Amino acid sequence: MIVKQGIAVSPGVAIGQALALGAEEFRIPRRFVRVDAVDTEIERLHTALDNVCKEIARNEELATDRLGQQYGAIFGAHLQMVRDPKLLSEIEELIRKRHFSPEFASSQVLHRYAKELQSLGNKYLAERAADIFDLERSVLRHLLGERREELSQLMTPVIVLAHNLTPSETAALDKKNVLGFATEIGGHTSHTAILAGALEIPAVVGVGQFLADVSGGDMVIIDGDHGEIIIDPDEDCLERYRHTEERSKSVAERLLLLGPQVSETRDGVRIKVMGNIEFPEEAEACKARGADGVGLYRTEFLYLGTNEERTEDDHYQAYRKVIETIGDAPVVIRTLDLGADKVPGSMRQMFSTGDNPELGLRSIRVSLHDQTLFKTQLRAVLRAAVDGDVRIMFPLVSSLIELRQAKMILRDVKEDLEEQGIPFARNTPVGIMVEVPAVALLAEDFAREVDFFSIGTNDLIQYTLAADRSDPVVSKYYNSADPSIIRIVRMVVAAASSRGISVTVCGQMSSDPKFIPLLVGLGLRHLSVTPQAIPEIKEIIRHLTIPQAEEIASRAQQLELARDVETFLRGELNKICPELVK
Ligand code: PEP
Ligand code: MG
Repeated sequence: MIVKQGIAVSPGVAIGQALALGAEEFRIPRRFVRVDAVDTEIERLHTALDNVCKEIARNEELATDRLGQQYGAIFGAHLQMVRDPKLLSEIEELIRKRHFSPEFASSQVLHRYAKELQSLGNKYLAERAADIFDLERSVLRHLLGERREELSQLMTPVIVLAHNLTPSETAALDKKNVLGFATEIGGHTSHTAILAGALEIPAVVGVGQFLADVSGGDMVIIDGDHGEIIIDPDEDCLERYRHTEERSKSVAERLLLLGPQVSETRDGVRIKVMGNIEFPEEAEACKARGADGVGLYRTEFLYLGTNEERTEDDHYQAYRKVIETIGDAPVVIRTLDLGADKVPGSMRQMFSTGDNPELGLRSIRVSLHDQTLFKTQLRAVLRAAVDGDVRIMFPLVSSLIELRQAKMILRDVKEDLEEQGIPFARNTPVGIMVEVPAVALLAEDFAREVDFFSIGTNDLIQYTLAADRSDPVVSKYYNSADPSIIRIVRMVVAAASSRGISVTVCGQMSSDPKFIPLLVGLGLRHLSVTPQAIPEIKEIIRHLTIPQAEEIASRAQQLELARDVETFLRGELNKICPELVK
């Protein structure tokens, strides 16, 4: 049993068989073979290895012809590995004695070799582990042949394990059959992590190297509450986790029943709790959990997981679907937040310059750069807004000029629609996300020019603390409990209230139960959270009074270190709703 610690990004426990991407790219269908089939299976292994050898020999010849002997020698080394009698006998032994399937046995043995190379403390040898993974891929390809499963159409439920999953790859996963996932890289609020929340599957990211420890078909537990993954758990551990799974299911079911109850503090102050969505289908999940609307619709996901262009009608249909589901409650449609880790295949060209994508062409900058794209979206939003309480929100604004340009384009779009006689909602409110410290500092000026603010703590934290939200190496510097973040949120709330506009927090901070008393105490009356978290956030609000929340906020602001703030907030939540402390 191997236990690895990563970053918990989507709650819950998942138990199932591993599908290790990157190492195999396809799934090992069976872990064991029947005792009477052992000889046939070993024959199948030999045939596959022979075919791998032939393939490598062909590549060796080709490389030698085209590039010279030294390149051909690379394949010669691979060939030696496959022909190594020790390798064959180790795989055969696992099939004979433990009745492993040839796929599972080869994967186990090759992974062990790769791991040994990685642990020798020699950089050159560690890099050769990649050759072994390569070899594993070809052995599996030959063994599985036509039986290879496509990731987008898995036949059975699996736990996906990968070095990294881009938001596009995650969006394209077969959602029905992914029980949970873990990745070697990725941070607290990477968009892949956010997608795990949207898919409502337990996830852990930033685990560091672990793929060498796991083979496809291994039993794995993902603990999305504590950020742990357990490979090959023993019976005791499995039992404990099955129990935890049951318990959290029953808490979730109880909270779900309370969904329709209004979210009001004990002393009668209404705190609106809305949902963050990436796909129109999630509007249902918001509604079922008693959301007060959609506070953040990340529309760029319309472009991720597909290579297709999107038309005005595609946008319009998606927005209509959300509006129809949500009814009279507000739907905040955020214009495209493309760039950084969200680059659709069809737009790679546009984003190919610059080494620092989080500080480069992203978000509203993309919309201002490609106005056709922007106008297409704005037309669809304004048209859909006729049927609901729709609000437009611009992401990652960093200067007043940018905001004014975006509003000017919006005016042009309205004029076009007017001229064309197409119905649209002229008075659709316009707001911005506060995600860049410059905007927080000038919040009073921005508040004069918009109808609302929504604080995007995910980006605000990365830009304030200079720590990439997706990089686990700097995850200790990325901290929502940092006193600077509390101060900056307080400043924005004060600016909004002095100008009489509404302010929401829609970053992941507001989906974390321990921050709720603090945010309410800082004056927030609107929160937008991941749909899964809605019931528990409402439950905390129903246990709070405003003076109690204000006292918590005031005491938190007296603390100097993020660590102390975090401990203090966890302690306070434990007094308010002990069962929600993770
Ligand atoms: C944020 O930055 O807090 C936010 C909500 O936007 P996203 O996570 O999509 O960048
Ligand atoms: Mg953001």
